[in-house]
Amino acid sequence: MLASAAQTGARCAVHVDIAAIDTCSRCGNYVCAGCMEIHNYETICGTCAERVGAKGEQSSRATTALVFGLLPIMTFCLPLGIVAIVLGHMEIAAIDAGEAPASGRNLAKGAVILGWVNVALMIIGVLVVIAIFAAA
Ligand SMILES: [Zn+2]
Ligand SMILES: [Zn+2]
Repeated sequence: MLASAAQTGARCAVHVDIAAIDTCSRCGNYVCAGCMEIHNYETICGTCAERVGAKGEQSSRATTALVFGLLPIMTFCLPLGIVAIVLGHMEIAAIDAGEAPASGRNLAKGAVILGWVNVALMIIGVLVVIAIFAAA
């Protein structure tokens, strides 16, 4: 889907001067990065997002959680992944309780997954160091 939209040189249905990166899984319109919304793991356009009620301000905690999920991978400061897991779970709990906008759910889930990736990398790193010292 991503490659096909980019290869055809398609433009966003709303922003005619911006290249489309995907198509809406609901109405089939081309969407640019700015219009793209994720709903139930599918790409949809801004218009459809409003229709299905997926659009809305994500809470800053959902975004912060995702940043803490990505940052450790880029900086190799892997323990920060634990922050992503904690913040992500807090956000999902708040969404379930109706205290945070549901649009942040995918961000929060992504943060938790990335957080666990960081923790896994950290464990692998420790094991490799132990293996090196054991072999020496
Ligand atoms: Zn659409
Ligand atoms: Zn657009």
